[in-house]
Amino acid sequence: MKQATKFIHAGAHPDPSTGAIMTPIYQTSTYVQEAPGVNKGFEYARSQNPTRKALEEAFAVIENGKFGLAFSSGVAATDAVIKLLSPGDEVICANDMYGGTYRLFTKVFEKYGIKFIYVDTTNADNIKKALSPNTKLVWIETPTNPLMNITDIAAVAAITKAAKILLAVDNTFASPYLQNPLDMGADLVMHSATKYLGGHSDVIQGCLMMNDADLREKLYFIQKSCGAVPGPMDCFLVLRGIKTLHVRMKQHCENGRIIAHWLQKHPKVSKVYWPGFEEHPNHAIAKKQMRDFGGMLSFELKDNSEAEARRVLSSTHLFSLAESLGGVESLINHPASMTHASIPREERIKNGLSDSLIRLSIGIEDADDLINDLNKAIG
Ligand SMILES: *Cc1c(COP(=O)(O)O)cnc(C)c1O
Repeated sequence: MKQATKFIHAGAHPDPSTGAIMTPIYQTSTYVQEAPGVNKGFEYARSQNPTRKALEEAFAVIENGKFGLAFSSGVAATDAVIKLLSPGDEVICANDMYGGTYRLFTKVFEKYGIKFIYVDTTNADNIKKALSPNTKLVWIETPTNPLMNITDIAAVAAITKAAKILLAVDNTFASPYLQNPLDMGADLVMHSATKYLGGHSDVIQGCLMMNDADLREKLYFIQKSCGAVPGPMDCFLVLRGIKTLHVRMKQHCENGRIIAHWLQKHPKVSKVYWPGFEEHPNHAIAKKQMRDFGGMLSFELKDNSEAEARRVLSSTHLFSLAESLGGVESLINHPASMTHASIPREERIKNGLSDSLIRLSIGIEDADDLINDLNKAIG
């Protein structure tokens, strides 16, 4: 089945009691049993909910996986993966990950004796060099947030397979429309469904997709034991969002391409970070593993001061100044003081994330209007 058909039909079955074409929002905490233990597979809504079940089936289908699990946020999904580990275990991860992932690793899990080793994963050899007998998991994100660095998923999967350890990929930026890490050998895919999957800036949610039944059982156990499950209304919203993912992504990519090229020619812009440019350091890998280059990009101004960046950030009208990404409306963001404020400045600068960097989540409005807005703001 082709992608567009999958996105629309994934997890969709007419409701057995009424034939409703849309999965109902089963707003219930518990289910009546005929006799103790005699039930229809639903006992208590932290463990099972029909709306969530339909969504989890959809999650599996859209990433070409066998299983999907829904969580109350993207970080809750990441949290569940790290809870597979024990004190003394080591995780190798990217040195420019999403700030909230970095915070979860360093501020929450380090104190439980799990060790996180940060390397530049854009060169897969760095992962190989960092392996130790205690390494249990490699966590990568590609493209990264906000510098749009690209890691070769298949090359990393070859390393983790040889070492018999898990590879998890945060696929939030690409979305399943652009890239399917399970097909490239990853064991786990994680999404912040808050972003492109939901797509309308109206829900917080996360998910995990996988092929291995044992891994699914372990993660389901964590999901129900720790309880970070999404409510049925949120599941409904993400199910609905997925139906238009391909249509939205096509437009995100097209607008992204137009704006990246326009910014690159702008006399006041010094650098544009977008994996579609041939001069992007890992353009060839992006081309190999992604179907297009997405609607996320970052840029720096020739006047490299934070003050000038702040002026531009508060001068747009169509681009709203806000954290998050992947919605139909365009957003502008200052990673240094917003999404990445939880990373120490020294660490940030070392990884190339300057004080003046501006990140755009290009929406699906008319590209001419977006360019006009940016042009007035940059001046
Ligand atoms: C937003 C985001 C997360 C965290 O997801 P939440 O839904 O906000 O908890 C993780 N990774 C990336 C790349 C993100 O953009």
